[in-house]
Parts: sequence; C-alpha cells; structure tokens
Amino acid sequence: MIKFNHLKKSFDKNEVLIDINGEVKKGEVVVIIGPSGSGKSTLLRCLNLLETPTSGEIIFEDIALTGLNETKLNQLREKMGMVFQSFNLFPHLSVLDNLKIAPIKVKGMPETEAESQARRLLKQVGLEDKDTAYPASLSGGQQQRVAIARALAMNPKVMLFDEPTSALDPEMVGEVLKVIQDLAETGMTMVVVTHEMGFAKQVADRVIFMDAGYIVEEGTPEQLFDHPEHNRTKDFLAKVL
Ligand code: ADP
Ligand code: MG
Repeated sequence: MIKFNHLKKSFDKNEVLIDINGEVKKGEVVVIIGPSGSGKSTLLRCLNLLETPTSGEIIFEDIALTGLNETKLNQLREKMGMVFQSFNLFPHLSVLDNLKIAPIKVKGMPETEAESQARRLLKQVGLEDKDTAYPASLSGGQQQRVAIARALAMNPKVMLFDEPTSALDPEMVGEVLKVIQDLAETGMTMVVVTHEMGFAKQVADRVIFMDAGYIVEEGTPEQLFDHPEHNRTKDFLAKVL
C-alpha cells in the first residue's frame, strides 16, 4: 500500500531521516518505536507529505506522491487518516458535527449520509451518547476517540497514529488503545508510533525500531522484543520495558 525508498529529510544541517526504506502492506499493522528525536514523527509526516522529503520517494497505491501537484496530493491525503498526540478537534462544533464536517465539505457527502455515518462511527468508538457534547466537556481519552472517529469519517485506506496516547492521563490510555486495537482487527492498514510496548507486542504485525534517523532493525514483535539483534535496540528496550 505504501512504499518509501531512500527517504531523506534534513532540517537545515540536521539530518533527521538518513536513508529510510520500507513498505506497509495492505491490512498490516506496523508499529514504530524508538527514542525521542529519532525521526519517527518526521517519517510518519513524510508518508502523507505533511513534510516534504529532501530526497527519496513515497509510493502510495502505486502512485508516486513526491512530485504530485497540490490538488492531486490532497485527494490522496484524504485516503490517509492521521491522528496526533494532541486531539485538535474543532472546539466550536459538537462531536457529531466534528465527524460530519469533512465528509460534507471535502467529499460532498449528503448531510443525511454524513449524519448516519457519524453516528455509526461514534458507536464504534463507544461514544454514541456524546453526539451533542462539545469537545471541551470530554475527557482526553474521549476526545482522542472522537479524533479517531473523525479520521475514519473520511474512509481512509490507511491510518497513521503519532503517539496517540502520549498526552493522556494514564487511566485513559487503555480506552484509546482498545479502539485502535479494535480497528486493527477490522483489517485496517495502520502505522502507529507509540511508546506503549505492551500494545505494540499485541497488535503489531511488524515492529520497526528507529534510532538517529535510521531504521536499525525491524521484525515481528517476537523477533524485536524477545530477540533483538542490535545493541541499540537492546539498550532502548532495556530502558522502556
Ligand atoms: P521523534 O518523533 O522520533 O521524537 P521527530 O521526527 O519529531 O522525532 O524529530 C527528529 C528530529 O527532527 C529532532 O531533532 C527534531 O528537533 C527535528 N525536527 C522535527 N521537525 C522539525 C521541524 N519542523 N523543523 C526543524 N527540526 C525539526
Ligand atoms: Mg514524535
């Protein structure tokens, strides 16, 4: 579904991604782990060209994104849902309207269809009773679940999560991870940057360990967590497990 070849990204002289190669297959759940500053967010943002790579290419469903004009790129970006650490809901819109606005405005979806879809998605994330609530009245965990539902409302082919639970109070982490795990079980293709190692072990088909702008090592959760090969992976896991 997504391929990235010889991806490099520098901010001035700071080389953040050095030579990144990989792919995400349809239906696969890829989890990216690694120390802070290793380039995980930059890689994720390069996948949908929120960040323009300095060189290299990104291929999404056989189309090279690098080099597309902005209109075409925006059409393809709609197929990649993104969920960030901060929830970024529209504060002046009810939960239901948060889920309806993009399908209506961007896709031209009829109001009634957007409404029934929004209700179905709210049910999927366990918040069907919050339709009329405003974001500020929800807990962080609830807001993040709405953010996930909002991304799903565009019917994406792949979901990109950048530390979706890092800003949450500990007691809310589980409910958000549960929603992401349920989504994985529906066969959604996903790339998840996270520090939740237990979650990574459970849901990942493949785990990528990044350090200092490189993919140091990747493999199944068993390979990476139980039999890491590289010292940098071992050192990192020793700190976080
Ligand atoms: P991670 O998500 O693994 O913590 P990031 O991809 O956010 O790492 O950052 C990797 C490096 O890139 C850091 O040194 C960070 O300061 C730098 N960086 C990220 N985004 C920008 C930016 N927009 N401008 C300048 N430097 C950036
Ligand atoms: Mg990050």
